[in-house]
Amino acid sequence: MKYNEDNKILPIEFTMIQIKLKKLLSKPKLNSLLENFTKTFNLSFLISDIQKNVIWGHFNDNFYYNYPLMVNDKIVGNVNGDTDKIETISQMLNYILNEEFEKKFLAADTLEKYEEINFLSDISNQLSSCLTFQEIMEVVRLETQKLLKSYQISFMLLNDKGELDIYSYEGKKFNKSQGSIECITGYVLRSGKAEIVNNVNKDSRYIQHDNKIKSIICAPLTVQNTTIGVIKVSHNEWVKYTSEQLKLFTSLTSQAAIAIQTTQYYNQLIEYSQTLEQKVIERTQELEEVTKQLEYLATVDELTQVYNRRYFNEYLDREWRRVARERKFISLILCDIDYFKRYNDYYYHQAGDNCLYKVAQCLKSLVKRPADLVARFGGEEFVIILSDTNRLGAEKVAQELCRAIEDLKIDHFGSECSDYVTMSLGIATTIPTRRVSPQKLIKTADKALYQAKDMGRNGFCVAEFRPDII
Ligand code: GH3
Ligand code: MG
Ligand code: MG
Repeated sequence: MKYNEDNKILPIEFTMIQIKLKKLLSKPKLNSLLENFTKTFNLSFLISDIQKNVIWGHFNDNFYYNYPLMVNDKIVGNVNGDTDKIETISQMLNYILNEEFEKKFLAADTLEKYEEINFLSDISNQLSSCLTFQEIMEVVRLETQKLLKSYQISFMLLNDKGELDIYSYEGKKFNKSQGSIECITGYVLRSGKAEIVNNVNKDSRYIQHDNKIKSIICAPLTVQNTTIGVIKVSHNEWVKYTSEQLKLFTSLTSQAAIAIQTTQYYNQLIEYSQTLEQKVIERTQELEEVTKQLEYLATVDELTQVYNRRYFNEYLDREWRRVARERKFISLILCDIDYFKRYNDYYYHQAGDNCLYKVAQCLKSLVKRPADLVARFGGEEFVIILSDTNRLGAEKVAQELCRAIEDLKIDHFGSECSDYVTMSLGIATTIPTRRVSPQKLIKTADKALYQAKDMGRNGFCVAEFRPDII
């Protein structure tokens, strides 16, 4: 590529190809051809350059005939001789000169195309390694400065609101602003076609914002037939931007457009994956909450809000094995509300439910050791596991429970043992072994409960057993 005085790329032109007549005539083959002509046809002539210097033959006053040698409509020399027969010589030389010119032009043109491809592939390489819009702008800014005279380079991208986000460089200084679609930019955005305005004052579409600006070259950022923005290069002097420069600038902007869209997709993807990650975290937390809730619901009795029978069984199995390992006592208290059928019949079912809740909560509030457990055994029966607790300890707890329930002072008209709701308790205590099932403890407590009922209710009985001697 050719560069002008400002080191900007210039398009190749015919005028720039020079054919040196002297150099051509110094070629031995042509030289001997001319010698042969002189001898064979008995011709006498000379060839001079544009400054009238004789470069072939000898000066002779009798050379009246003169034929110009022309390349690309320009005289590069003359053939002078004493006869018009030398016109043939001039025709032959003109033919050779123009052939030479064509050859040189083609060579220069091929080189030019090669350099253009190099220029564009270099830009393509640079752009493909850009990860951010900022990096793309920097590549485009530097490459544009190689290509065009510029005072200001602006990147204008259409945003979601249909406005323009404008990124402007004055030299290396960069600044961001917002703007509406107007002026030459608007035309380029709508048409998707690049524009050269060599003199802004002569273009009625131009709206003056900065009176320093004199020339503009503006190309769309188009990806798959959609224009996503424009790149505008302005100059503060009159510039004659050429169509060749526009062609290269447009190739540069098309590549930039693809790179910009790729980074936009890339950023969207990153944003999306971050949102996704955040959502996964939130969903996992929600799921954990729900799982906890479900686990709770699966272990708790809905009406009384103490553990249910299923959880009680699991827990008793676990505690049974643990206490067996540690050779400690375990006590179990079965609690049954006295005359509860009558309570229901008299106060109705809803009041019965409320009573069950109050009794359950009262039991729960009194059984506080970490390894202890209160559960609903079924109907109006509750069960309490007291780990590491012997007969005496269990009796103490049972006594407290009986008193506390009666102290709730829940009226019970139908009870034959009190004015209030009361409970009968059956206690079973043992040091468990692995050979015996914990069901044995439950059965024993049940027997004790029957005894307590038989003994007049609102009290407790104890049954102890030794698994090793069963
Ligand atoms: P006892 O003193 O011998 O224990 O007599 P009882 O009436 O308490 O015993 P029974 O087994 O004859 O009756 C138990 C009653 O408990 C039967 C039922 O009406 C009541 N019941 C069981 N589950 C519920 C419940 O979930 N809600 C209500 N409101 N009542 C229940
Ligand atoms: Mg019962
Ligand atoms: Mg009962």
